Amino acid sequence: MDSEDLRLAVYRSFAESGRAPQMHDLAEQLAGDVPAVIGGLEELAVARHLVLDELGRIVMAHPFSAVPLGFSVMGTQTLWWGGCAWDSFALPHLLPGEGEVLVATRCPACSCPHAWNVGTQQPPDGSQVAHFLVPASRMWDDVVHTCRHQRLFCSEDCVSAWLRATGSERGYVMDLRTLWRFAAHWYDGRMDRGYIRRDPAQAADYLRSAGLAGPFWGL
Ligand SMILES: [Zn+2]
Ligand SMILES: [Zn+2]
Repeated sequence: MDSEDLRLAVYRSFAESGRAPQMHDLAEQLAGDVPAVIGGLEELAVARHLVLDELGRIVMAHPFSAVPLGFSVMGTQTLWWGGCAWDSFALPHLLPGEGEVLVATRCPACSCPHAWNVGTQQPPDGSQVAHFLVPASRMWDDVVHTCRHQRLFCSEDCVSAWLRATGSERGYVMDLRTLWRFAAHWYDGRMDRGYIRRDPAQAADYLRSAGLAGPFWGL
């Protein structure tokens, strides 16, 4: 089974339906069998193209998620779990037919609801801030945990309150404009055949160009 065909089939399912594909659907689409699909998904997970749970089910194919991580993203016909703050803001850039999507979440500190129309042309307005807990060098130690803790808060005060309440160390705080810029092109190419991940030097250049800085990002 061609690994790139399989990767694209997974991404297409998420993009079109908001859901992870079923194993037997992938097998049918790719004229293979379920064991070949399972093996192929494992290979893709090793290469960090997707994330599987302990039963081998697809949990994430960044920026898409099969599980709730604090965000919903609503299009005209489709509803996605948004992944984290970064992933939710990235989704409209991978869904060119959608225009603006509605990204919604609750502040983890005070449960205040927040929603933004997020598109590809300009960052949404708002004084909320994103807090990323896990430094870049450790993001893949447990990437679902990492995404679960990349959230949007009302304000710096709510970030501080949440850090105190959970006994967590402060990670990295950015405004909505920076989050949007950072999310805009990070996932470029994932819907296309032949996608190749940026090497570390290119990734660092990208992060710098989005306005991120400091040891949290390995910069
Ligand atoms: Zn709050
Ligand atoms: Zn994420």
